[in-house]
Order: sequence, then structure tokens, then C-alpha cells
Amino acid sequence: MTITAAEVLVSSPGRNFVTVRITTSAGVTGLGDATVNGRELAVVSYLRDHLVPLLIGRDAHAIEDTWQYLYRGAYWRRGPITMAAIAAVDTALWDIKAKLAGMPLYQLLGGRSRRGCLAYGHASGADLPELFDSVRAHLGQGYRAIRIQTGIPGLSSVYGVASSSNAHVGDAAGATSRYDHEPARRSAVPVEEEWDTRAYLRHAPRVFEAVRNEFGPELPLLHDAHHRLTPIQAARLGKELEPYDLFWLEDVTPAENTAMLRRVREHTTTPLAIGEVFNTIWDYRELFEEQLIDYVRSPVTHAGGITALRRIFDYAAVYQIKSGVHGPTDVSPVGLAAALHLGIAIPNFGIQEYMKHSAATDEVFRPAYRFADGLLDPGEEPGLGVDYDDEAGAAHPYEPAYLPVNRLKLDGSMHDW
Ligand SMILES: [Mg+2]
Repeated sequence: MTITAAEVLVSSPGRNFVTVRITTSAGVTGLGDATVNGRELAVVSYLRDHLVPLLIGRDAHAIEDTWQYLYRGAYWRRGPITMAAIAAVDTALWDIKAKLAGMPLYQLLGGRSRRGCLAYGHASGADLPELFDSVRAHLGQGYRAIRIQTGIPGLSSVYGVASSSNAHVGDAAGATSRYDHEPARRSAVPVEEEWDTRAYLRHAPRVFEAVRNEFGPELPLLHDAHHRLTPIQAARLGKELEPYDLFWLEDVTPAENTAMLRRVREHTTTPLAIGEVFNTIWDYRELFEEQLIDYVRSPVTHAGGITALRRIFDYAAVYQIKSGVHGPTDVSPVGLAAALHLGIAIPNFGIQEYMKHSAATDEVFRPAYRFADGLLDPGEEPGLGVDYDDEAGAAHPYEPAYLPVNRLKLDGSMHDW
């Protein structure tokens, strides 16, 4: 069974997605997610110009060999564009193999290890009353773990805080999307936000104190610092949040220099998660072997596919480190489905981030996975359980969109977003 076609599908049902569809001589097709938020067309070119011609005529069953061929064959290895392109091909080949086996993909990964994948949702608010409303709304929807992000006094807009002006462009329902945060804005250039680290560090512990007072000790709470702190600032935040028993504190420092986590770890027992911008197993070596983190944030889409992420999770398990897969809306339903098949099977599943996609997105991808009672389930359809609707996709052509950039409020210097 050979690969006879590989298409790169670009659609924008509320936000941009890049999807690979591989067709085989047996007539079976498979899907992979290659979306890199804000740099979508770079992956399209990498795939169309450089990978698709290499795939035609290859054995569609040879998943590992194809992965090695594309990874080693590039010579200039790694990086988000290369690894998203490889991930999409790898995921599509797994989808095909599972469809041919007549099984949901998780069966090929070892079968079901749990009733479902614990999901966390995003609660946010400009102030505490709005945040509490958002937490209650998430509890009402069945979430059993919740990320907390709030506005900061003195700053006009802050990462992770939804506002009606930027919530879900593609969701006609509108009313239910108020707290779904979609940071990429459709524009020719990125919008600029402002930042004040001292104001944030003063405010964040008070927010968690208030949330614990309102909702009690049981509810697992998470928080994302979005790569904005120095090691010593991160250490202080972790220490000050210890009384509020966080499930994790995410992305405390910029991810390029993993040794910085050593300094943070020395000072706090708050669990740490990082890795959504990593793209290979090598990025984790120091963090795993020195046990500097507790959760792995890599998604299938940006870490080289199911083949590569499975290896990262097995390596993590040696050090009692668990999965905590990145799941913003820019990971397409194909990428989320792949994460759920892996998550339901692996021994060291931790938690799965879940931002519900817009209704328009689900019309294009028709995912079989379901969310109920706080758990996500990949479903029992053969393969990934995602079915791309060409007509629905074509109705939403690509539009440029970018994540914001960040400048310090103090003097306008560029800062990490
Ligand atoms: Mg993050």
C-alpha cells in the first residue's frame, strides 16, 4: 500500500488551520494537523514544496521509517515549521493504519488505560467578580480542573483574559464564547499589548487567595505565566502560590534556556509545566534528567507527531513526569484527537488542556471526541475519528492573523508575549 497523494488543506473557520490529508493506493485517507499559529503559510510551503514530493510512492505502513527519513533527511533538523510538517505526515499515517485495522487509534497505542482524559478549561475575568462567574460557568459545564487568569490593575489587556471584543470570531453563538480566549487577531500586523511584571507579581497571589476562599481547597487550579519572568521572579511567584496548592504553574520563564528552571526549582514546591514551544525530545533532556519539571506541555502537532511525542512521554515516565498537553484552539481538532488517543493509552497521562473549538471549526473537522463530566474521550470511530469536510473548509479561506506582541508599560521595550 503506497501513498498516492498528499494534500495541504488551509481553512479558516474563525481561525487558521493547516491540515494534511494523505491518500493511499488502498483508497484510505488520513489526516494530520500542521498549524503553527501566526506562521501558517511557512508550514504550507514546507509541506507542498519539500515533503509532498518525497511522500508519493512510499510505503504508507512504514510510519517509523518515514519519520526518520523526513527528520534525518532534512539535515537542518528541528524547529517548529519542520517538526509541525513532520507531525502532520506522521499523524496522518497513524490515522490510516488505525482505519485499516478497523480500530480507534488508541488501540494501536496499547489500548485504554483510563475512563477518560481529565481536561482543564480556561476561566478568566477582568476582575474577581467576573473571574468567579467564569469559574462557576466552567463548573456548570462539568470541568473538574480550571486554569485561572485575570486582569492586572493598571494594564489594559493581559494574556489569557477573554474579552467580548476578541472572543471567537467564528462562533455565531457568541453568548457562550465570552470566556473562550482566542489571542490571535485577524490583522496584517500583530496588535501590541503592555506588560508590568511587578504589578503582576503583586496581584497574582491575591487572586489565588480569593479563588481558594470562594471555591474551597478541592478544585485543581492551574496558572500560566506565559514565559514572562526571570528565574528569580518565577521562584518568588512559585513560593507565594504554595499556600493555594496549584495543580501546576506553567511557562514561568522563557523556554530557550531550560537551565533557568534549576533556579526556580530550588525555591519552590509548586509543580511546574513547560514545553508547548519545544519541538523535540532533546529539548527535555536536562529538564527530565534533573527532574526540574512535573508536566510535559508538548502537543502532537508541534513535537513531530504521535511517534515522537510517545517517545517523549515514555522518557518522562522514567522520572515520574506526566503529560499535560497543550490544547489551545490553534491545535486543530485533528491535533486534539491525536492527543486524546495518546492520552487515553499512556501510563503517565496527567491532564489535557481543552478550549472548545468554534461551531464553524467543528463543521469543517467533524470530530468524534466528546467532553462529559470533566473528561475528554477520543471515541470509538476507526482512526483518529476526525472527518474533514472540503466544502465547509473552502467556505472559510485563509486570512492573515497574528498573536499579539508585548511591550513593557514602563518604557515601551519589547518583552516576551
Ligand atoms: Mg502556556
